[in-house]
Amino acid sequence: MTTHVDEQVQARIAAAKAKRELQAEQRAELAANRQAGLTARKKAKGKRLYCATCARLQWRGTYYRCPLGCGVAVCRKNPHCGNTHLRQCDNRPEAS
Ligand SMILES: [Zn+2]
Ligand SMILES: [Zn+2]
Repeated sequence: MTTHVDEQVQARIAAAKAKRELQAEQRAELAANRQAGLTARKKAKGKRLYCATCARLQWRGTYYRCPLGCGVAVCRKNPHCGNTHLRQCDNRPEAS
């Protein structure tokens, strides 16, 4: 037979179990979010683009690609960067 106290104990055990399961669920969700964030961050970091001459971080519209086709970025607003790169570019005509 179950007493009133037994019922209370069972209810408390069930509540604790439910709480543990909820916390595990939340932990798993946070871990998944964290992993997704890390992956996105890593991806964004890998895509970052730097000027081939002055190594400043470039954004969309602040750089142009090397006109000789070597694929590097150079500052758009600083002509010095482009001129310096062109003289050192592996694709410059006098290099071959
Ligand atoms: Zn630059
Ligand atoms: Zn180049």
